[in-house]
Amino acid sequence: MSEAREIAEAIVLSTTFERDQHGDYTGGFVYARDDNPNRRALERALAELEGGADAAAFASGSAAAAALFQTLRPGDHAVVADDCYYSIRVMLDEIFVPWGLAVSYADTSDLDALRAAMRAETRLVFIETPSNPLMRITDIAGAAAIAHEHGAVLACDNTLATPVLQRPIVHGADVVAQSTTKYIAGHHDAMGGALIAARDDAAWSRVRSVQRLCGAVPSPFAAWLTLRGISSLTVRVRAQHASAVRIARHLAGHPEVHDVLHPDLPAHPAHATAARQSEGSGALFSIRVRGEATRALDVAARLRRFRRATSFGGHDSLVEHRASIEGVHSLSPPDLLRLAIGLEDTDALIADLDAALAR
Ligand code: PLP
Repeated sequence: MSEAREIAEAIVLSTTFERDQHGDYTGGFVYARDDNPNRRALERALAELEGGADAAAFASGSAAAAALFQTLRPGDHAVVADDCYYSIRVMLDEIFVPWGLAVSYADTSDLDALRAAMRAETRLVFIETPSNPLMRITDIAGAAAIAHEHGAVLACDNTLATPVLQRPIVHGADVVAQSTTKYIAGHHDAMGGALIAARDDAAWSRVRSVQRLCGAVPSPFAAWLTLRGISSLTVRVRAQHASAVRIARHLAGHPEVHDVLHPDLPAHPAHATAARQSEGSGALFSIRVRGEATRALDVAARLRRFRRATSFGGHDSLVEHRASIEGVHSLSPPDLLRLAIGLEDTDALIADLDAALAR
């Protein structure tokens, strides 16, 4: 807070900070890539939300994930969930594997498959639970036990559930990854990502070095918008989640939908695990419509309140045919539509879906 005693936090755009007469940085900041007041405030809030010791903010969720992989060395091995966010797979295959990182993909919702993928050189296990868009659930405590037995770190992408509904550190994760672009910023207007550490240890200092030296950091304005999003995060996520569960239940009984992939529904194969480790799986889920890809695309085209766009987590409801946007490694079936439930009236969203699904 400045001398004006403002309530809304000021945006500090300065890229550089002045030394005092003795050459010291008494203000606590040197250069904005290293640290700046808006980013520091955001990092403190994120660490508190996830129950971590520290947090590092990045320019996007992808930059945050990349920073984690950049802490590894050529010859190290990582086990990554085979249905993690599609673009992270592409990043690994196109950037990190050519750099010398060994990567195995495993269905981490099956702990035996995870165990089988571990090697003596495994340094990192990267899970995403629930996963986007297949909504698979990985048992966080089980995955942490396997990672730790092998001397590896467990990182958990918690973008879908958010810390409002799930706190992976409590269940043994060493690092949490977030695309703050989604629910945390919450309004489709600020890109960002974060890593949150359970402990401030040597591995964490390497993350901080990557952040400082490689510089994929959010601007002060993006950090400010994201921090503003945090002020309403709990209320938004709880409302969006409740609406999503009502819509998922409605669609589960719909004759034109043959599967609803939401872990909060008792029919989901990992419902019990999801219920044990989270207060809910969030407001993003997928449906599989009867018919082929053309039918799914037709349903998306007929929706009026849901906008056809990628991403999720904002106040607007969005729909996406994932198989069309993902590439060769896509695990998304052609009849799958991903629904991101926003803050609109639930009955209006149900009516929109019913009208679009009608033959
Ligand atoms: N993690 C998950 C689960 C995501 O869905 C996304 C993006 O959709 C990312 C990470 C990457 O985040 P960003 O788009 O902010 O780079």
